[in-house]
Amino acid sequence: MVTERQIRDEQEMLDFGAEMARLLGSFNGERGPVVYLQGDLGAGKTTLVRGILRSIGYQGSVKSPTYTLLEPYADEGVYHFDFYRIVEHEELEFIGIDELMDAPFIKLIEWPEMAGDRLPAPDMRIQIHIEDSGRRVVCEYAH
Ligand code: ADP
Ligand code: MG
Repeated sequence: MVTERQIRDEQEMLDFGAEMARLLGSFNGERGPVVYLQGDLGAGKTTLVRGILRSIGYQGSVKSPTYTLLEPYADEGVYHFDFYRIVEHEELEFIGIDELMDAPFIKLIEWPEMAGDRLPAPDMRIQIHIEDSGRRVVCEYAH
């Protein structure tokens, strides 16, 4: 299923995150859902993650884990990845990527394309396109 929408500003992106959180919360699979977040730097991937976490009740700061690759939110059941900086796929082995992907957590992944074929296929793919004013978001749900 593919849907497309216009997101006019940051607040609308946060609201979209709350919608996604509801959808992902009702996901039933053996493991938690794998979500690819794609779009240029500054597109709003991290803002969307912030919207998801806020709606689950997390009030702290949410930043791209560009240097650590992973920020776990254990209480919220969310793993936030950012693979922008990856140079060798071995780095993914070091963090134990397969085990992390099998966890019963929601996996939100920025720059999944940098991980090559080391990731499972996504349950959901969000593509954010920067437009003159605002963003166009294409959402593909595999189920
Ligand atoms: P990314 O993680 O994709 O690099 P960020 O979420 O960190 O992007 O940054 C997006 C920036 O763009 C933020 O500063 C945010 O305020 C701004 N912004 C402007 N319009 C929008 C919009 N419609 N949706 C999301 N972010 C927006
Ligand atoms: Mg980011």
